[in-house]
Amino acid sequence: MAINIIDPNAPGQAHVDSYWAATAGPEIADAAPVAGDMEVDVAIIGGGYTGLSTALHLGRKFGLKSHVLEANRIGWGCSGRNGGFACLGIGKTSMAGWIKRWGEAEARRIFDQSGDAVRLVRRLLSEEAIDAEATPDGYLELAHLPNRMRELERDQRFLDSKFGVKSRLLDKAELESKYLISREAHGALLLETGFALHAMKYVRGLARAAQRAGAVLHGSSPVQGWARDGRHHVLTTPGGRVHARQVVVAGNGYTGDRLHPAIDGRLLPALSNIVVTRPLTDAERTALNWTATLPISDTRNLLFYYRQLPDRRILFGARGGIEDTAGSRASHKAWLEGRLADMFPILKGIEITHFWNGWVCVPFDKSPHVNSIEDGTVHYALGYVGTGVALSTYCGLLLAHRLAGDDSLRPSPLLAQPLPRFPFPALRRTYQRAMYVYYDLQDRR
Ligand SMILES: Cc1cc2nc3c(=O)[nH]c(=O)nc-3n(C[C@H](O)[C@H](O)[C@H](O)COP(=O)(O)OP(=O)(O)OC[C@H]3O[C@@H](n4cnc5c(N)ncnc54)[C@H](O)[C@@H]3O)c2cc1C
Repeated sequence: MAINIIDPNAPGQAHVDSYWAATAGPEIADAAPVAGDMEVDVAIIGGGYTGLSTALHLGRKFGLKSHVLEANRIGWGCSGRNGGFACLGIGKTSMAGWIKRWGEAEARRIFDQSGDAVRLVRRLLSEEAIDAEATPDGYLELAHLPNRMRELERDQRFLDSKFGVKSRLLDKAELESKYLISREAHGALLLETGFALHAMKYVRGLARAAQRAGAVLHGSSPVQGWARDGRHHVLTTPGGRVHARQVVVAGNGYTGDRLHPAIDGRLLPALSNIVVTRPLTDAERTALNWTATLPISDTRNLLFYYRQLPDRRILFGARGGIEDTAGSRASHKAWLEGRLADMFPILKGIEITHFWNGWVCVPFDKSPHVNSIEDGTVHYALGYVGTGVALSTYCGLLLAHRLAGDDSLRPSPLLAQPLPRFPFPALRRTYQRAMYVYYDLQDRR
């Protein structure tokens, strides 16, 4: 069965009812739909971090103009819905596996690009004057069971010896005295690289910066058809056709199977859900000893991610669910509320002001991909496996270099791998169910 998340015949959908959408201020001005036929050098499909960062860097670094075609509103996909963690992370394959496959020098390049991605976001916020409520540097990974401290110790040694990254192990006592008290936190690894931001303010900031750099943004412009006419790609949208010499696919989990044969059957969109509470009272903050706003996740495969927002609300998210219906949404929300209360019993029954979800993008090899096809006229960057705030921004920069023919910045060997097709793609949801059962069992031991 084909997987398609967006409906290209229902353009311009409103944002999900998220805390970010409610607090981000005005929509992007001047993002009119495509009207009539036009000829462009570069068309970018998808108005999230990947597409907008590509457009921004094409304009800012290389003086090249691009047109971004977004099916709905700018930032409508994951980029306006995520947890706002701009942290290290590059797919889900093991770092030791990188060394085995590519050797230590290349593994280090892979890891360094992940750090460069976080630093790029920080730099863009400053250079483009984007106020996205960024927190200071620091990211906590919690041991969700006592025996997971061994894993964190191993990670710490590995990061230090192989990549020269300093991090600090916190035992339960130090964690509780400095950061937070949770029933499911038995110590932590504190990394210096990584911070949190307001997801929608960031995507709108990128969009405005791209416009300033000369990019033209088109909302309500889903690409419904794609044909080739000599040197041009012809993209059909409801308002007109775009004839482009180069095309960038930046749809990530929302790309779907229909858009291009080279993507068909190669991506598995997986749901992630978020609840946001009302602001904590002083008494609740004192009881949990939780005042820091740094991003936090745990050692589970199916991890929980959470943070205290600047206005003292708790944002609490997790993977889960195979389908997105009104019924499944209600049960995912109830489940998240229950798990929040398991970890922090004092928050049982706390008012949930916002709940939403979105589709993260999982390729068969659980790695992101930056590549070019069709004689180098079609490019894609996608498959961030749920860790894409920083990486998608960076991949946009990589794509801008590629489109401009500038070889000074190239994808690491991990990113440059071809995008594999799932064996029997019609069974993707079945694989997912099996993986969730397996991961859940592992996470309990
Ligand atoms: C609930 C949730 C929480 C997350 N939390 C984090 C986090 O804290 N940290 C982190 O690093 N990552 C997180 N992620 C993942 C991260 O948000 C994504 O990896 C990142 O935003 C991907 O950006 P993108 O621009 O590639 O894709 P998106 O932002 O998804 O944008 C793709 C866009 O393409 C458009 N599109 C698709 N097909 C077409 C078409 N045919 N025509 C025109 N437009 C089209 C869609 O409408 C969409 O707006 C989270 C994701 C979710 C869903």
